[in-house]
Amino acid sequence: MTSRPADSRLYIDGAWRPSASGQVGDVEEKATGARIGGYALGDERDVDEAVAAARAAQPGWAALAAPERASYLRKMADYLREHYEELVTQSMRETGGVRAKGEDEVSTGIRQLDISAVQATENAGEILPPYKAGKLSLSRVVPLGVIGVITPWNYPLNLAMRAVAPGLAFGNTIVLKPAELSPVIGGQVLAEAADHAGLPPGVLNVVTGDGPSAGWALATHRGFDLVDFTGSRSVGLAIAAAAAAELRPIRLELGGDNAFLVLDDADVELAASSAMIASLEFQGQTCISSSRHIVVRDVAEEYVAAVTRRVEALRVGDPMSGEVELGPLISVAQRDRVHQRIVEPSVAMGAKLVTGGTYDGLFYRPTVLTGVTPEMPAFTEEIFGPVIPITVVEDEEEAIALTNGHPMLMNSVFTADLMRGMRVAELLQAGEVHVNDAHARHGAENQMPGFTRRQWIGVQRTPLTLPAWTADPAGRA
Ligand code: NAD
Repeated sequence: MTSRPADSRLYIDGAWRPSASGQVGDVEEKATGARIGGYALGDERDVDEAVAAARAAQPGWAALAAPERASYLRKMADYLREHYEELVTQSMRETGGVRAKGEDEVSTGIRQLDISAVQATENAGEILPPYKAGKLSLSRVVPLGVIGVITPWNYPLNLAMRAVAPGLAFGNTIVLKPAELSPVIGGQVLAEAADHAGLPPGVLNVVTGDGPSAGWALATHRGFDLVDFTGSRSVGLAIAAAAAAELRPIRLELGGDNAFLVLDDADVELAASSAMIASLEFQGQTCISSSRHIVVRDVAEEYVAAVTRRVEALRVGDPMSGEVELGPLISVAQRDRVHQRIVEPSVAMGAKLVTGGTYDGLFYRPTVLTGVTPEMPAFTEEIFGPVIPITVVEDEEEAIALTNGHPMLMNSVFTADLMRGMRVAELLQAGEVHVNDAHARHGAENQMPGFTRRQWIGVQRTPLTLPAWTADPAGRA
């Protein structure tokens, strides 16, 4: 991508262009604060144009045979493969993640394209048993139409691709608004891949810009058949309220206050090692991060010691300049939220700071808090930072009761007894629960939303006999 301009542009109707306002925002390398580029600041005028282009392109795109659409997706994947190293570096610079995180993000994005290309050619619909003789009943998978996609900064490429790949594969056209903190890896790069693949104009449009301007314009635009939002609960709530007032269809993927349960018979060393992944991977800035560790008293002391030993050995620094396990947080606002709204108030309410709780610029020392009680922000809030808050309970029953009642995406349960783990998992109100594991992916990307609906079709395939009263009176005897 040596041809990429220093300032990214919008990609609308198959053409690169500056935003209507002509304004440009800064793209920063998170670890150093250096300006590494610019992004066009789109607003509602650009969103209007992108929606019109996507609307005009949609019937033609949907009319292509699925294997033809799939071949475009494969070309997009080829582009990402060819530029893999550059993209991993771009992700590391823009998001502040270590190399393994960048590799995971880019390879998952590629895999999503590969999987969607196959899925679209396999899911055309099905023939159903007719409810009466002589009829043919079938259901067809049809695209929703024009989809607006708003994405966050933490895994920008693969979270955008999670909507873009299946959306395009099934015949939808898309307007994507990536997060302003990572507009190149989360937006520009997808437009480059589409451009390289020769996608027909208007099929994928990328409007970069800030949340309150471009984001809100997209979220409230009436030209979409669906707006797909991934991000914070607070913004999701505002989008849901505005959509409800006008009965506009939306789909929300929000954050969670996920739990990590350590039962009395757990392998404590395994749990402590898994806790590093669960709460500290990408500095804890993952929607599935564990932000509550609920530990049964019998093993609590041992668990705190095992976690603290590991946390204190972690290296924090610039992921580009050496061996580190944790990079910077994404922004000053995020650092202040973690420190001032989670850690400090929880300590003021009686939590014990075992290690961490300090920062240097955006580099936040991984932190262990003990004595965390259900009233503290460290227990009630999604943390989105490198903090392990530990709450001690008496037994399994209390652990389950304390876990439930919070919005949760993914939990973990540690126990030596697999059947016990399965039983506890079934009682937890999380979409996904792992027994003796953290952040495992069980093919979640295979279950990407297809952005389709089902259309049921009935065909009378034998001559129809209708009651006499339906006949033309002129022809009656
Ligand atoms: P955010 O809600 O601040 O921003 C997400 C996107 O929304 C960005 O593109 C932003 O520009 C846009 N936006 C901001 N204000 C807007 C507004 N008023 N109107 C319309 N759009 C607006 O979230 P974030 O800080 O980028 O991401 C972190 C959050 O995302 C966390 O809560 C995390 O749990 C969640 N998340 C969820 C998933 C999931 O799959 N469930 C995945 C990743 C992140």
